[in-house]
Amino acid sequence: MGSCCSSNSVEVRTDARQAAQCPCCGTSAKPVGKATLMHQVVAPLNQQLPPDTFFFCSAHGCETVYFSNAGAVIKTAQVRSEVGQKSTKSDRVLCYCFDVSHFRVMREIATTGFSTSKAFVVEQTKLKNCACDTRNPSGKCCLKEFPK
Ligand SMILES: [Zn+2]
Repeated sequence: MGSCCSSNSVEVRTDARQAAQCPCCGTSAKPVGKATLMHQVVAPLNQQLPPDTFFFCSAHGCETVYFSNAGAVIKTAQVRSEVGQKSTKSDRVLCYCFDVSHFRVMREIATTGFSTSKAFVVEQTKLKNCACDTRNPSGKCCLKEFPK
């Protein structure tokens, strides 16, 4: 299931580093693709991204969203929407593809013991109807963010 978003990715990443420390908070961060950046970063900054490998920092309280090998930094105010991974708000977004919030999932579980929204996302992911590589700031599958 974790490979749902890599199956349709034809981009070959040539960087050697599969993780890097955020220069702001020191958290280990995973690389993101150029398409993710161009969809997430505000204009006109998204038209001026250096040809460098960028990484995504998911740490709460850290204002750095993306940083590059060469030291470029993109902060929370420079991305188009709130980064759910960095938020502790109850209504933070879990699934950017289908607009599912943490609040919705928790309410479903509290009411029925089962999250129909999560089941929907699982199903759509299997059908490859998700768009995590451009919708999710991490570029990774939204299901990772759901409560177990
Ligand atoms: Zn950070």
